Formats: sequence, structure tokens, C-alpha cells
Amino acid sequence: MRKILLSRPILVTIIVSAALIGLILGFLRPDAALPEQPALRLVDLPERPALRPADLPEHELADHGHEAMFFQEMADNKVECQLCFLNCIIPDGHRGICRVRENREGRLYTLVYGLLASTMIAEIEKDGMQHALPGTKVLAIATASCNFRCKQCHNWHITQRYPEDVRARQFTPQEVVDLALRRGARTITGTINEPTIFFEFLYDVAILAREAGLRMQFHTNAAIAEEPLRALLQRLDQAVVDLKGFCPIVYREYYGGCLDSVLRTLKIIREEGVWLEITNLVIPTVNDCMDQIRAMSEWILEYLGPDVPLHFTRFVPAFRLTHLPRTPISTLEQAHAIAREVGINFVTIGNVAGHRYNSTFCPCTGGRLIHRIHFAVMYNRITPEGTSPFSGRPVPGRWE
Ligand code: SF4
Repeated sequence: MRKILLSRPILVTIIVSAALIGLILGFLRPDAALPEQPALRLVDLPERPALRPADLPEHELADHGHEAMFFQEMADNKVECQLCFLNCIIPDGHRGICRVRENREGRLYTLVYGLLASTMIAEIEKDGMQHALPGTKVLAIATASCNFRCKQCHNWHITQRYPEDVRARQFTPQEVVDLALRRGARTITGTINEPTIFFEFLYDVAILAREAGLRMQFHTNAAIAEEPLRALLQRLDQAVVDLKGFCPIVYREYYGGCLDSVLRTLKIIREEGVWLEITNLVIPTVNDCMDQIRAMSEWILEYLGPDVPLHFTRFVPAFRLTHLPRTPISTLEQAHAIAREVGINFVTIGNVAGHRYNSTFCPCTGGRLIHRIHFAVMYNRITPEGTSPFSGRPVPGRWE
């Protein structure tokens, strides 16, 4: 009896502790507070904050829906989204992998039409574009979320979150164009997150931008499906494609993407005559193998031609790759040398402020055509006719 009396408080303490630990673990589970998940997820999401920001958008997403383009109705109220390479089959009440396209009773809606998480004025060079109106400003627009899961993403706090968890403001296409004009931008660019996932809004902005004399840019992971891509290209002036490497396995494992769809997009952009530039973020141990960089450069030369600018940029540790070092400058210089050796004419190095190869050089004479320090243009010697003053060689791009 004495034994039982002594052990009872201990027993109670154990039970209460176990219940508390269970409760805490339940709350800490990353998915515990998430809204209903799509059937497919490529990698785990970062933990969501327990509380939503104080200044949430004034509207509710439940009321926010703009019917999507490019989907197919299916049996049982399912839909197939045909906007990007993932072709999500989405049951009623669920969302696609991009978290922003929702099936409501057999019709697909975008939740981020005009719901902008970023409206930023920046140098056009900052968005990876060097041969179109150098030194001018762009208005960069972005929404929440993404269809990729890049482990190095610097913008993960908006790209890897649900729209409900990201501060955003509602805009109309005309308001975006007016903002660009008011702030002196010559170009509007969909960037930061993947603009494919706010396709409908970008598509509407593009037509008004053209009417207002602005240029329209698309900075993309290039995993968009062919039909929407061709439709969008009719309204675009230029595109920057992130070619994140040349190995299909790395593409899948590190970015949640598909190399084949990216290569197809690159060919289509070229075929449609939209000005194209390519960035390649070189990440140590992930995609810094020089054989791959050579193979990538040879593919660019063969399918896109020697005059598509190629920018190697330096990786800075972020998100899930904080254990990796910054890219050594010697690696970037090696990549630059290989691309030039293969025959790519306009190759630069980015994210290394003050490096000689921030600048663009005449491929014939080696004279400096555009002197850049980081994103700032110091001078531009390309003639008004779009040629090199050193050799008379045409320098492709959009100079006026
Ligand atoms: S845009 Fe891509 S990720 Fe989003 S629902 Fe459509 S197919 Fe899926």
C-alpha cells in the first residue's frame, strides 16, 4: 500500500508530461497548421510561422479567385492544369504544387491574380538582362509561391509559402503599368518567384504595358508548358532564363524541376524571336563540374547560337544550402573561359562586384563595350546602330 501511495504522484507526473510533450510535438509538426495540401509535394516546406503577419491583405483568399487559363476538366470534378511541366491533376478543393491554383467544383482558379508580394524598382541588370536598354530601370513584380523547390532560393520566404502567409497587395494590370511609368521604369518584369504561376496577371499586364510604350520581360525557370509559353511570347519583348545546370538528376533533386522542359522552352523562345539571355548560378558541388558547363555551353551554341548572352553568377549560401561555401571566383572564371572557348560570344560573371567580367566585351577585339560594376553601368560604347565601335560587328540586343 505504501509503495502504491509513493508511486502515484510519479505516475501522474509521467502521464501529464507525456500529454504535454505530445501536444507540443503536434503543434511543432511543420504541416500541422498548413491548409489542405495538394496530393503531390516534391520536398518538405519550410516551417510556417504560427501567426500570420499583422498586416495581411485586406481581402480573404476564399473570395479571391480569377478563373485560370490552360486547364482541362476531368471526371469526378478533377482538373488537369496544363500551365507548367508538372501537369497537376487536382481533385476538387485542392491546389496544385504551386499552391496558388485551386480546383473549385471542377473549375481551376488562380488565387494570385494581381496579388503582388513584391513591386520593386531596380536596375535591369539586377534581373539578369544586359543587352536590353542597359542602365535603365525595371519594375519587378512577384506573387507568393513557386512551382519549383530550389534549395538555394534567396526568396524562399515568399516562394516557398502559401499565398495566405505572404504579405501582399492587390493591383489591377493598369495600376502596375501606372506604377512603372510613375517610377521611371522602361520595363516591367515578372521575376523573384516563378512568373508562370501568375500567368494570367502577367498576360494582362503585358498588353497594357505595350500600349504604354513599356517593354515586358519574363525571368523564368522555363518550366512552362508549350501552349501558354507561345501565347505569352506574343506579348513579351525579352526573357531571362535560369538554366540551373545541365544534369537532369541535379535539376530534379535540387530544384524540383525538369531539364528537358527548360531546354524545350529555350528553343521556343529563340524560335519565336523574343530576345533571350541565360543565367547559370554556379553552386559548389552541385553544378560546378566543368564537363557539365562545357556540355551546356555546347548545347547553347548548337541550338541557340553564339550570340545569346550567358551569365555565370556566384552562389551565396541560403535556405537549405547554407552548409555550402560561396562559389570560388576561380570556378566562375574557369566556366567563363570554357564558354568563350566553346564559342559563346557574350559571357559575363555576376554577383562578384567589380570583377572585370561584370562587363561586356567585343568578341572580335576584346574592347570593353559596356563597363559594369556589379549592376551599375559605368559606360556603354555600343553605337546607336547596335554595333561595336572597335570592330563594327553587330552586337545583338535591344539598344533603343
Ligand atoms: S502551374 Fe504547374 S504546379 Fe501549378 S497547378 Fe499548374 S501544373 Fe501544377
